[in-house]
Amino acid sequence: MASNMRIPDPLNLIGGQWVPPRSGKTLEVVSPIDGEVFTRIADSGAEDIDAAVAAARSAFEEGEWSRLTAAERGRLLLRFSQAILDNAEELAQLETRDNGKPIAQSRADMTVTARYFEFYGGGADKVHGDVIPFLNGYNVQMTREPHGVTGHIIPWNYPAQMFGRSVAAALAMGNAAVMKPAEDACLSVLRLGEIANAILPPGALNIVAGRGEVAGKALSQHRGIDFISFTGSPEVGQMIQIEAARNFIGCTLELGGKSPQIVFEDADLDAALPVLANAIIQNGGQTCSAGARVLVQRSIYDSLMARLKERFEAVEASPSEEGAILGPLISARQKRRVEGYIDNADAPLVARGRVAEHAPKGGYYVAPALFGPVAPDARIAQEEVFGPVLVAIPFDTEAEAIRIANGTEYGLVAGIWTRDGGRQHRVAKAMRCGQVFVNGYGAGGGVELPFGGIRKSGHGREKGFEALYEFSTIKTIVINHG
Ligand code: NAP
Ligand code: MG
Repeated sequence: MASNMRIPDPLNLIGGQWVPPRSGKTLEVVSPIDGEVFTRIADSGAEDIDAAVAAARSAFEEGEWSRLTAAERGRLLLRFSQAILDNAEELAQLETRDNGKPIAQSRADMTVTARYFEFYGGGADKVHGDVIPFLNGYNVQMTREPHGVTGHIIPWNYPAQMFGRSVAAALAMGNAAVMKPAEDACLSVLRLGEIANAILPPGALNIVAGRGEVAGKALSQHRGIDFISFTGSPEVGQMIQIEAARNFIGCTLELGGKSPQIVFEDADLDAALPVLANAIIQNGGQTCSAGARVLVQRSIYDSLMARLKERFEAVEASPSEEGAILGPLISARQKRRVEGYIDNADAPLVARGRVAEHAPKGGYYVAPALFGPVAPDARIAQEEVFGPVLVAIPFDTEAEAIRIANGTEYGLVAGIWTRDGGRQHRVAKAMRCGQVFVNGYGAGGGVELPFGGIRKSGHGREKGFEALYEFSTIKTIVINHG
């Protein structure tokens, strides 16, 4: 419960110890619910990143962490998973205060976070190599080994979940991790670090809080890391990849999208309707895989839009109490950005929700907006808004729907609504993205399901067993036994 919430101190987790940033500097933490400062976090610099990378290196090469078997690593991650569940309510309250998301969403996020450590804890001892037939007199083994020290930079939209998604697979493979969470919301990550630190050997997991352009940059440029996993904006993702190239290391980038939900005239609209709306309202639309464009076959366009209009008008942005479905956005900056898109949209406004009367005036509330009909190449149909803004685009034929769906620089997720089995397969196959849902939509969750994008949505896969492969490297051992 809220009264038991433990707000972490402005410290970093380095080598199993909670230490202040070397500079002694801290940053204010604001709650989006009321815009008030309620605590501080470390404002770390390059020296703190240096210390964290050194601690991770030592854990990976000679520490207790390096001596564990895969089964032992897995068992520790399973214990951590249970500890997250044991502290889930407190963590959820903290997440809501820090990020502003509705409490029901924070509770769901903690279940998913625990699930990451359960899934990868169970996976740790199931990754194995291969024996490859070669010349007579040779035995060839292919082994999968950890990269070493992995860097992790995550955004503010799902702090706990992103922590789990990125770090659980890396640790399961035996890497030692250094994480830089987002300045705008990282308290749950620090609290998770406290819980983990009672379970994991020192240096396996290190967390350094601070600003992206200082601590994040220092991590991405550090010569002591062997791999980097980044989730956030395409602009920063591009810089991460450039730094990775300078460092001759690999990276995974998860950079968001403008994902389509395609509704054909034969779809079960009663089933589709709540999902279509939720895919952009959930987490205030601040989800990389948000269903931001709804493509509607023209014959059902007017009737579906009338129903979507009704839904959008009923949505109220409110403080993130019990029953809330739309909370505030993360920051004043993000509120201005989303309102800028709404005010300057190059398309007709169909519906606007409301901001609750009792919402604190200093909070970052934005009423959701529905636009349509929107031209496929309109700015609001092409750029990621990262807010509760849905654009509706009419289409006539299946071929046109496919063209529009694939017609952005992004390619993360797609949803297809149709009862026609042939069409389900054809359209799913034609989608240029990393994940396709037929008669459903999966923004968030699904830790078993490989996830990631193409082009401006990034590359590499997280979630599922694939993430264990991303966080490992292959060695081929050729033995001439005569
Ligand atoms: P961002 O700047 O890319 O932030 C993501 C992470 O990168 C944060 O931890 C950030 O730290 C860090 N970072 C920032 N500059 C860095 C640098 N030069 N070197 C290394 N790390 C750096 O994203 P944002 O500003 O929070 O959001 C901007 C837009 O990105 C959003 O409006 C949205 O369109 C998109 N976005 C996408 C996702 C997604 O899940 N794909 C998530 C968030 C945002 P600090 O935050 O502490 O500065
Ligand atoms: Mg905050």
